[in-house]
Amino acid sequence: MKLGAHVSIAGGIQNSVSRAIEIGCEAIQIFGSSPQSWAFKPIPKEDTDVFRIKIKEAGIGPVFFHCIYLINLGNPNPSNVRNAIQSLIKYMHLASETNAQGIIFHPGSHKGAGYDAILTQTASSIVEVLEQSPDGPFIVLENTAGMGQQIGSKFEELGKIIDRVGSSRLKVCLDTQHCFAAGYDISTPKGLNQTIEEFDQVVGLDRLVAVHANDSKYALGAGVDRHENIGSGYIGIKGFEVIMSHDAFKQVPFFLEVPGFERKGPDKANLDILKGIRSKMTSNVNS
Ligand SMILES: [Zn+2]
Ligand SMILES: [Zn+2]
Repeated sequence: MKLGAHVSIAGGIQNSVSRAIEIGCEAIQIFGSSPQSWAFKPIPKEDTDVFRIKIKEAGIGPVFFHCIYLINLGNPNPSNVRNAIQSLIKYMHLASETNAQGIIFHPGSHKGAGYDAILTQTASSIVEVLEQSPDGPFIVLENTAGMGQQIGSKFEELGKIIDRVGSSRLKVCLDTQHCFAAGYDISTPKGLNQTIEEFDQVVGLDRLVAVHANDSKYALGAGVDRHENIGSGYIGIKGFEVIMSHDAFKQVPFFLEVPGFERKGPDKANLDILKGIRSKMTSNVNS
């Protein structure tokens, strides 16, 4: 289990590597552009080359990109969906150029139309992205907290999209906070086992390629997407001990997306907490 974090690319994609090293990342997630904007400034080849070399030298990996927040494949506005498809294709090219394992995105919101109304549009958009993307990187759906009219908070909703797309390159990222907010009690052994069982049935554990490791600012089932530092939220240290000792996550990289103890984003302190739990869990197994 590699432990990493979402790291800033301010000043250029290559600068993310030293930040990752500084806080002790074993794996890394980054944006490829400003997450609140459609604008995509192509990244020069020199920069992606330097990034790839530095990442390799540092022994960090896998690399994942997090897509921009504007993407909503369920949007009723066709021009918005076109933009989203183009953005995902650009990210897939970037992922290929940087040897990243995949790009992670939120499935979006049905804006009142209901899930069934947008299932076909969402699936056909993903198919289009895959057709226009280089071979290699995965396209990764992230489960959501179910805020507002967000889709993808129930595993069944992700599973239906996956069935429709029918590609082995469509994978899933589980966000611990989103799971918890959506009512999956992953903080107890019983709740986690049930959650994993349901995930395996409707999505398939072989689809799980990344975990967003975030504690929750709100209680179980609150439906609110608010991340908290590890141990300071409702999942708690005990909850992460439960999560990190489960077999389902053994080969899956974890990425922090927490506010940080100094409110500057994922930091060494949070990563050290996860590492502490991991070594406690492995020594338990070996003793
Ligand atoms: Zn997340
Ligand atoms: Zn979130």
